[in-house]
Amino acid sequence: MENNIKAKKKFGQNFLKDSSILTRIIQSMPNNKNHIVEIGPGLGDLTQNLVKYKDTTAYEVDTDLISILESKFATEIENERFKLIHTDVLEAWDNKGTLHDSKYDLIANLPYYIATNIILRAFEDINCENIIVMIQKEVAQKFSAKVGDKEYSSLGVITELISKESRILFDVPPESFDPPPKVMSSILYVSKDTNVALDKDFNKFLKVCFSQPRKKLSKNMSSLIDKETLSNIYNELNLKETLRPHEVSASLYSQMYTKVKYGKQRS
Ligand code: SAM
Repeated sequence: MENNIKAKKKFGQNFLKDSSILTRIIQSMPNNKNHIVEIGPGLGDLTQNLVKYKDTTAYEVDTDLISILESKFATEIENERFKLIHTDVLEAWDNKGTLHDSKYDLIANLPYYIATNIILRAFEDINCENIIVMIQKEVAQKFSAKVGDKEYSSLGVITELISKESRILFDVPPESFDPPPKVMSSILYVSKDTNVALDKDFNKFLKVCFSQPRKKLSKNMSSLIDKETLSNIYNELNLKETLRPHEVSASLYSQMYTKVKYGKQRS
């Protein structure tokens, strides 16, 4: 590997080496004036393409990669086209709440061990408008799943509610990386609806709803609320008692949550 760097498993390092994939990612970038944020620039292959088009900020946790990136992008750092931040991106979010102080699009080949967490944080980040990320295919399917799909879960519900559009752009095979990951990858695209902010406890509610995916939704919800409240909610929303978690639309989950929360506040 370049610069005698050995990929570190603990940081989820699989470097994208297929230039045709890099080109397709760049071609998928939204046509707007937003800043770019990249998480995990690695050896800088995607970064090199991003900085050609837009001002970019990148967050990298691995100290060994920082000096390589600093010398590779010395000119871009000097003329402020590129800003490199040496930190754990989740800590940056904890400290500042956002990864950039104006509108940005997140474009990255994510470390898979924290990919779900990163995407959920990007959903909450009010400055993040669009997300184009490489993640494990199975995870991308969960985020882009719609009601009725077998992959539909709390992630699909949240994505549906906070986005104008979400889909898988294309798949990427293990051979496109060095070292190759054990799984198939996909590029997930989410265009956020920036007018929507989800209640912080909504995710917890969904986790309960999907806790036993094959059981009836009413059974899962019975651990959360008493029988009578549950039956009232089903009546008010005109729901069949036999519904399973994957058969309920995102907007119905949102209405149910409001009723559960409102019912609890009254009691
Ligand atoms: N962008 C490069 C590419 O496409 O070849 C590397 C992608 S590699 C899958 C993931 C990158 O995320 C690595 O550079 C890794 O060091 C970095 N990384 C892992 N955990 C991180 C964290 N918590 N915060 C910031 N970067 C992280």
